[in-house]
Amino acid sequence: MMELGYKTPAAESSRLMLDAESRAGLWRRVLEAVEAYADDVHTLPVRPELEPEAVRAALATADFDKELSPDAALDFVVGLMRKYQTHNSHPRYFGLYDPATTTMGVAAETLAAAFNPQLAVWSQSPAAVEMEQHLVRAFGGRFGYRATDTDGTFTSGGAEANHTALLTALTRAFPDFASKGLRALDSQPVLYVSSEAHHSLLKAARMCGLGSEAVREIPVDEKFRMDVGALSRRIARDRSQWFAPFMVVATAGTTNAGAIDPIDRVADVAEGAGLWLHVDAAWGGAAALVPELRHLLEGLGRADSITFDPHKWLSVPRGAGLYLTRHADVLGRTFGVRPAYMPLKKTEGMNVVDPFGHSMQWSRRFIGLRVFLSLLVAGWDGYAAALRHQVEMARHLSSQLERSGWEVVNDPSLAVVCFFDRARAEGGDADYLEALAEHVRASGAAWLSTTLVAGRAVLRACVTNYRTERRDVDALVSALVEARRALIV
Ligand SMILES: *Cc1c(COP(=O)(O)O)cnc(C)c1O
Repeated sequence: MMELGYKTPAAESSRLMLDAESRAGLWRRVLEAVEAYADDVHTLPVRPELEPEAVRAALATADFDKELSPDAALDFVVGLMRKYQTHNSHPRYFGLYDPATTTMGVAAETLAAAFNPQLAVWSQSPAAVEMEQHLVRAFGGRFGYRATDTDGTFTSGGAEANHTALLTALTRAFPDFASKGLRALDSQPVLYVSSEAHHSLLKAARMCGLGSEAVREIPVDEKFRMDVGALSRRIARDRSQWFAPFMVVATAGTTNAGAIDPIDRVADVAEGAGLWLHVDAAWGGAAALVPELRHLLEGLGRADSITFDPHKWLSVPRGAGLYLTRHADVLGRTFGVRPAYMPLKKTEGMNVVDPFGHSMQWSRRFIGLRVFLSLLVAGWDGYAAALRHQVEMARHLSSQLERSGWEVVNDPSLAVVCFFDRARAEGGDADYLEALAEHVRASGAAWLSTTLVAGRAVLRACVTNYRTERRDVDALVSALVEARRALIV
């Protein structure tokens, strides 16, 4: 029996495990599909036709009453994803923060699924938990914390990290919050964000039971950064009423225009008022890895907590977010519970972290592996080079746009460019700009979007792909010029 191991006839013939030959064939095909996509994604239309009926019709042939061979099943879904997907990894995708993925990140996802470590308790997965803690300290150090004092947890993304930040700030500000909840308070807690902050903070306020009106939107200056004077005044006004300010959120890299709030000055105000300072650096935090951009994040180390999304500018597969804090006790106070059924006895008294009592999730996937493996292979320098290249491409885009009659309204230091059409009377009109964007997207040549920056309509193009080259940027500019011509009425 021993020699047989688990290659028993029952397991081998199981449709769950598959036999050795099927597995070998399957992995070859997975590899071919992944490599083919990396090789030819640039030849696919960036955006598919948007036809719900066609996608559903294709899916109608999926029949779980029949068995399919692994090869046939794989070909079926690969075909669907190649055809019906906006290709985020296309070098001419200038979209939301959806990067092309690192190869090590893709490999990591397979390993994480195969080994499937349980990241609820340390004793189940010492290697995985410690790899993540190693990353927490490494990023803490990069962001201006003392690495050894940095605590944190991996999350599904920035939204969960921001939600975690609200919960930790509430726990810290109101000692009864964890046990008695908001109803034990005799005043309404409020927090402060800029009017350009991410909307996940509104959802987080709802999910914490605060309600979205507890989120005070502070106006921005002409560079789309929080107006620090207005912040101070609003805190004073709220305090003079029955509100209880507890938190300020500075954004380091707004979603619209990559604007960075003046973190140091916001930190002065937060400190002066005794409020928790959270910095939402979901996208922009990556600038800390590039020596010549690091100064943009001056003051980041003063934050009580930080949101950073490796699945954005570090190009690892979704969903990989990170919540960091310099307060070692706060995650435990916020999430700590001690159920009898968790295997905790063996590590009692050891200096280890059990993630389930330290974060929102319970059974958790090995999120950090895709970051760990990507960093081991690229190194900080490899990442700095890739990020630098993307910023250069955005600067090139900005100057090419200016040359052909577009007006750029923001600083492209974080690889985001927002602009309108200076050459046309209606060039700043939201409908016109959306028509231009749709013309470009429908052609399949490139993908960009529109948004409102401080209330003004703009086109928005972000270099999210480390493989994007000058010729791709030039193609976007040509497609825009072509769209402008096509839309003459
Ligand atoms: C993307 C983003 C978020 C939300 O993060 P998800 O990973 O999508 O959950 C929050 N804040 C900022 C500034 C972002 O760019």
